[in-house]
Parts: sequence; C-alpha cells; structure tokens
Amino acid sequence: MSGVTRLAQDLIRFNTVNPPGNEEPALRHLAAYLEANGVSSEFQQLAPNRGNLIARLPGSRPGHVVLCGHVDVVHPGASPWEHDPFRADIVDGRLIGRGATDMKGGVAAMTQAVVELASDGFTPGADLILTITCGEEVDMAGAKLLDASRALEGAKFVVIGEPTGLDVFRAEKGVLWPRITAFGRTAHGAMPHLGVNAISFISRLIARLEAYPFPFEPNDLLGQPTLSVNVIEGGVKTNVVADRCTVDVDMRLVPGQDKDEILSAIESIMSELKRDIPVRTEIEITQFAAPVQTAEDSVLVSAAIEAVRAGCGREPAVGGVSYATDGAQIAPSLGADMIICGPGGVDQLHQPNEWVAINQLEEAVEVYKSIAVKLLAA
Ligand SMILES: [Zn+2]
Repeated sequence: MSGVTRLAQDLIRFNTVNPPGNEEPALRHLAAYLEANGVSSEFQQLAPNRGNLIARLPGSRPGHVVLCGHVDVVHPGASPWEHDPFRADIVDGRLIGRGATDMKGGVAAMTQAVVELASDGFTPGADLILTITCGEEVDMAGAKLLDASRALEGAKFVVIGEPTGLDVFRAEKGVLWPRITAFGRTAHGAMPHLGVNAISFISRLIARLEAYPFPFEPNDLLGQPTLSVNVIEGGVKTNVVADRCTVDVDMRLVPGQDKDEILSAIESIMSELKRDIPVRTEIEITQFAAPVQTAEDSVLVSAAIEAVRAGCGREPAVGGVSYATDGAQIAPSLGADMIICGPGGVDQLHQPNEWVAINQLEEAVEVYKSIAVKLLAA
C-alpha cells in the first residue's frame, strides 16, 4: 500500500466530526509522521483538543507556497452506509469513509508530498509550508486563527486541497450570512391591530430580498450570486401577535460585490417596509468570507495546469467553486494568489459512502510536489 493511502486511511479512523471536531489527535498523528521523516512542525492550539498544524521546509527568501487542508469532517448523516464511515475500507481501488474526499485524502496527499520532497533533499528557495486546519466545516475557526496569528507571513501562493477531481479552480464565491431580527409589539391574536407583527415584517422582507436585483459584474467562472432563506424562527402561540422573528439569509457573492453595499441595500428595503410595520430591526453577520479570484495568467495557475498534465497525463479543467474554503480566510490578507486543487469528486461532498480513488490520491502527491518544485526552485 502506498504511503499516501495508508496515511489517508489512518486519518479517516480518527473521528473528527465537527462539531465538536476534536482534531488534535489526527494532527498529532500527522506531526509524528512528518517528524519520522525529518520534517518538524508546530501545533497552534485553538481550544482543548483542537488546533492547526504548521510544518515548513524552510527557504531563504519570501514568496512562500502554502499547501492547506482541513481534517474536520461533517457527520456521517442519518442514512446508513454500506461501509463503516470510520473504518476506511478499500474496495476496488476506492478508499471509503467520511472525509475520504472532503478532505483527508487531500491532506494525506499534501503531507506525503512534503515528506517525499524532504526525503529527496529538495531545498526550496522560499518556504514550503504545510498547514492543516481545524474547524473548516462549521466556521473556519482554524483558518481564522491562522490568519490572525500571521503564521503564514511572506506567503505568495496558496493551494487549497479541497476536492476538484484534480481540476484547477482559481475562483470561489464569497459568503455573507446576515441574521435579521425584527422586534415588534405583542397583542392578543383577536386584536392584531394593537400589536406590531414581527412575522408579517419578516415575511414581506423575505419576498423583497428574493426579488431584489443586488448588482454584480457577470463572472464567467462563478456565474451569478445567490440568495437563499433557510432558517426562520418567530412567534410563541397561535393567539399571540409575534413580537419577535429572526431569519437567517445565505448569500453567495461574486468578485466585485461589496458586503457594506449589500447591507445598506437591505437596510433601505427594511426602512421602506417599516413605514407599514414599525418594527425595530437588528442585523448580525454570522458568517463572512469575501469572494476570491486569482488571475488567469498567475504563475500559480500555470504551474498547477502543468503539474496536472505531468502527474495525470490529461488537461485539467480550469474553473471556480460556488462554496467558500479556508483560502478565503487566509489568502486575501497575505495578498497571495490562490487555487483549489485536490483529489476526489465534488459529487462526493458530504455524501454517504464517500470515497476517493486511490490512484487519484497518488496522482495528487505528484501534482503537489510538482507545483512546489516549479514555484520554489532555489
Ligand atoms: Zn472541505
């Protein structure tokens, strides 16, 4: 069995379902594997049993390359699996388990690439940094800590190993989650004119938001921005006018869209509605990541395309992803170019019987090695 397959299997057997995550034992296992192969690392603590791992092959100039993945996974779900999600069975060239694709396979391939480069005696011009985060699946808490700690200072290129089937994605949508609460005035349900109904206000607001043409520049990689209302909560009893209603809005942004402009558009829609229903409102942002796009002519993009040609013998598709990754938390403040390129199919994300092809894990090791060598030749 290849090193990367064994490592991916080991990682799947650590239960890192988030929440709560408990990523530390899996990361300590990676640290021990790196150490045994002459690569030292540091552990950055986020909370008890949680944190990030940062390993480095040091170079002597700025322009570092970051290989980044996460070890937390989503819950296996309610529908039964054909294989235990934490046993990491191998059947017909597929490694099966929660996280095989998202993204313990990618983490294993990135780690194995660093280990092999170190054993080959590769001396990078700038640092090759391997960073494995916690917390990606819930709130990107690990990546936020990494960003705040400035541990990646000097990095110019970020490779996110989320599953793309080893295609090269150079853009990702941003995320904006406003939680809007309306506070009205309660009254007896038989005399609703004496109250101010927070549910009526929020229901009108939802209709307006769904129809509102938030301005955007057309983007050929990411398509259109989206808005979706997926949680609503309000009211206490059939005969009591609701004095409080909260709605969570999921907005996905394309490059050029600005958070503050969007929020002020929402505020002005609400001011109009308040003429009829005079509630007080609050907006809390529960999640935000700016959209990210790397230029087509970036050397990172061309290095990745060449690496896939060499490692897989095929031409990768170049595109964008509609979901946010850790990259949106770390690349913008570094001013770094970012791509997403990793083993496993996007169709396996968060699915029962999640699997990754073993040959793609092995190809990914070659792809990451080749990207690092191209960008970091001394
Ligand atoms: Zn992921």
